[in-house]
Amino acid sequence: MTEKFAKFIEVALGYGIDIPFVYGIPDDLSDHVEIGKRVLVPFRNKEVTGCIVGIKKETGIENIRPALAVLDPFPLLSPKILELCKWISEYYMCSWGQAIEAAFPAGVKLKGKTGNSGIMPDYSKDKPVDDLIVPGKNTFPLTEAQQNALNEIFESTNANRFQSYLLEGVTGSGKTEVYIRSIKKILEKGLDSILLVPEISLTSTLVSRFETHFGEKIGVFHSRLTQSKRRSEWLRIKNGDAKIVIGPRSAVFAPVKNPGMIIVDEEHDSSFKQDTAPCYNGRDVAVLRGKMENAEVILGSATPSIESYANTITGKYKLLNLPERVPGRKLPSVITIDMRTDRVKDDPAKIFSRHLLTGIQERISKNEQTILFLNRRGFAPMVLCRNCGANQICKHCDIAMVYHESADILRCHYCNSRKKVPSICPHCGSGEFGYYGIGTERIEEEARKFFPDARIARLDSDTARKRGYFDKIMKSLEEKNIDILVGTQLLAKGHDYPDITLIGIISADGMLNLPDFRAGERTFQLLTQVSGRAGRGESPGEVVIQTYNPDHYILKLAIKQDYKEFYKQEDRFRRALKLPPYSRIVQILVRGKNEKRTIKTAIGFASKLRESISGRNMELLGPAEAPISKIQSKYRWHILLKGDEIESLHGTIKKTYEEFLKDNKIGNIEILLDVDPQSQL
Ligand SMILES: [Zn+2]
Ligand SMILES: [Zn+2]
Repeated sequence: MTEKFAKFIEVALGYGIDIPFVYGIPDDLSDHVEIGKRVLVPFRNKEVTGCIVGIKKETGIENIRPALAVLDPFPLLSPKILELCKWISEYYMCSWGQAIEAAFPAGVKLKGKTGNSGIMPDYSKDKPVDDLIVPGKNTFPLTEAQQNALNEIFESTNANRFQSYLLEGVTGSGKTEVYIRSIKKILEKGLDSILLVPEISLTSTLVSRFETHFGEKIGVFHSRLTQSKRRSEWLRIKNGDAKIVIGPRSAVFAPVKNPGMIIVDEEHDSSFKQDTAPCYNGRDVAVLRGKMENAEVILGSATPSIESYANTITGKYKLLNLPERVPGRKLPSVITIDMRTDRVKDDPAKIFSRHLLTGIQERISKNEQTILFLNRRGFAPMVLCRNCGANQICKHCDIAMVYHESADILRCHYCNSRKKVPSICPHCGSGEFGYYGIGTERIEEEARKFFPDARIARLDSDTARKRGYFDKIMKSLEEKNIDILVGTQLLAKGHDYPDITLIGIISADGMLNLPDFRAGERTFQLLTQVSGRAGRGESPGEVVIQTYNPDHYILKLAIKQDYKEFYKQEDRFRRALKLPPYSRIVQILVRGKNEKRTIKTAIGFASKLRESISGRNMELLGPAEAPISKIQSKYRWHILLKGDEIESLHGTIKKTYEEFLKDNKIGNIEILLDVDPQSQL
């Protein structure tokens, strides 16, 4: 039966199966078969889409079924990208097909029958490559530190040598200028570049700055673009019309032909880690792709992740330093205010210290601008019954719903379900509710009470959802039509606000108290990033951090904006507790709608794992109910496996998982693996 095919293909499917399946190629499809194209194949009793990952003349397998159709006019992924995906599937413990799916252009999927062979238009016009005339001029004279960093980078560029750099530069030190000049050099060599940025930076001045320099050569991926626009950008890149790709995490798979450089800006940002399978970290994949394709990699940040900085000490990355702001931009002064003693008496919401209120008043009278920052949107995060104290918990998630005053509704920030505040308490029948805690909406409202004549705006993911709103706010700020801007961490990422001379961080405490070993690191990063947004020229700006824990070491270090000292202390703590980078962690999430069976599975899997690691240099924590014990009606339990080497963790989990599934029917309960987890919620 097998002899009737002249060729065979190996196909990766988007299921949790990690071996490619073999299919035969009928004569009429023979000319169309190429690695990297999608095919329609029979699988069990269904027709499904897979990706061709291998072509062979022979196979020893019996009873081969024929492939049904080739779906793409040209390969969507190059052999190199397929290899990268293979690595991702092994490292992050998912199927090859799942990793391949993550690398596809927006909206293109594997799995079920899609028969949509026309999904990618045939686009093969041969356009001559434009001359390398780059619009825009270098208007900024370089600082000595910038020049030194560039010299190092150019040395690798000239030698065509793979090298990873960590560019540690304080906010305002001109990292972007280093990126631009490095990319220019790469472009002169006829090579391509990829710049990964946190999603929100894509709406900003960063992209337009690159456009001034590189014009049409830029290709941008952006989740707010329509799907067809995203696909046409993808094609421009694949055809070599765009040679510089700017995008979020997934742009690490951009189909550039000859990447010479991959830059990850704000490399510490947790948005580079995908939180669904495959749980890859775009930053780490960037380093790997650079290695595979002999491209230089630059990771840039004012507050590098502990892992990346540790890599400069072991010599895996080369450290480049920009220790000072570019001329004309002084660092702001940062102080903490003890809210136990400096609270304003007639402020029922307990939002403002006297110091901050006076500061804002002063700025308004001088026609300068203020930012008020809080990492929580909405009006009140707790609505409690005044009689029995019952909280409004989301019925799908084990988390309090947040009251949004503008829509007069309670919303769950995890599953986005909403409901009205009930007229009577379902527990005790009382009709009186209290609104506690603060969110950005509340700050906006209270600020209006204290400063009735000020022009106040709010920027958080609720308001920024509206198309064009972000740009509008940035423009009003620039034109000085805003006195006070209230916002969440959206404000912290990648934007400079030179005319803002006061930043009030309403509360630093919430971030510090999260049950996560990275809480300190995250707080330090966020405070430093937010603080770095202020000041230029004559007025370097002031940052006021309000807290009930003014003696906390993280806050003390954030005031000094001393990354080196922060690293030293954090490193000591990680080393003592054997936390990453001094160990590797795989977080196992057991999840299901049936609580009893979820717990039973978690306990069963954990005890099987415990057997497997006995006598070996690994540590198992849990099972324990996750800090958020239910999301979207699924109960959640965590198991944490810690060890010195990632390979032995991989091996142990894989073997135990297979054995466990052989002995146990887990039905709808999911066991999900997160390698190098970024969140422990
Ligand atoms: Zn009640
Ligand atoms: Zn919910």
